[in-house]
Amino acid sequence: MEKTKIALVTGALGGIGTAITKSLIAENYFVIAVASHNRNAQDFDQWLNSEQINPNCVEALFLDVTDTNACATAIEEMTERYQHIDLLVNNAGITRDTSFKRMTLEQWQAVINTNLNSLFNMTQPLFAQMCQRKQGRIVNISSVNGQKGQFGQTNYAAAKAGMIGFSKSLAYEGARSNVTVNVVAPGYTETPMVAAMKEEVLENIKGQVPMQRLAMPEEIAKAVCYLASDDAAYITGETLALNGGLYMN
Ligand code: NDP
Repeated sequence: MEKTKIALVTGALGGIGTAITKSLIAENYFVIAVASHNRNAQDFDQWLNSEQINPNCVEALFLDVTDTNACATAIEEMTERYQHIDLLVNNAGITRDTSFKRMTLEQWQAVINTNLNSLFNMTQPLFAQMCQRKQGRIVNISSVNGQKGQFGQTNYAAAKAGMIGFSKSLAYEGARSNVTVNVVAPGYTETPMVAAMKEEVLENIKGQVPMQRLAMPEEIAKAVCYLASDDAAYITGETLALNGGLYMN
């Protein structure tokens, strides 16, 4: 029987994170589901119930991905418990959209800390051990807006573009050790965050997408599973765009 692999997924309870978690479980992974420090065990159980996720396939880890020391300690505990972590998916993210003229330092820093500095916090404690084991996969969830830019998102686009530069650079460092580092860059995706948008804004966005629809979270999750699979063993430093043709690099 194939050995269960261990994945650590941040933002696991969010729209895309839930789809990633479910898809990885379907691929025989055990998932350490990172929920934010604002959640508790009751929220986690509710999520398991509502999403019909088998509790034997997942463990909750409540963590603020912006807290460097907390991340290091938590990852040390997890690697002691499970011996190794095969896959890290950096998916947690926030937006604080506003034009740059109006942007406060707090809005800038919140987005950079959560979307970009979290990559340092989560990856640094894991990368050396992945290299030592000579196997490991890291998938970072960026955004089409990190590739093309977007009005009102200087903070978000800077962080999401930064993830791509980070991943390409780390891919060089991991290559000899069979540790791949890749990016998935979704376009607008049907999650609760997007569902909360005004109908006319949503229709306008769909109208700009050549495929005239949003991505489904499951489509993003499939791309993550592919990059984590043996079939993608020779892919590293790559950005896989799922945006319905909105931006072609
Ligand atoms: P959600 O808001 O549904 O999920 C984001 C998750 O990140 C939440 O579960 C949230 O936890 C978690 N999170 C936020 N801050 C922290 C923190 N400090 N510590 C730990 N966890 C934190 O968004 P999506 O599922 O839509 O987005 C997932 C990723 O995909 C994000 O990186 C986003 O930028 C990216 N993306 C999304 C697109 C879309 O259209 N939806 C398009 C392109 C990219 P909690 O709920 O507990 O606050």
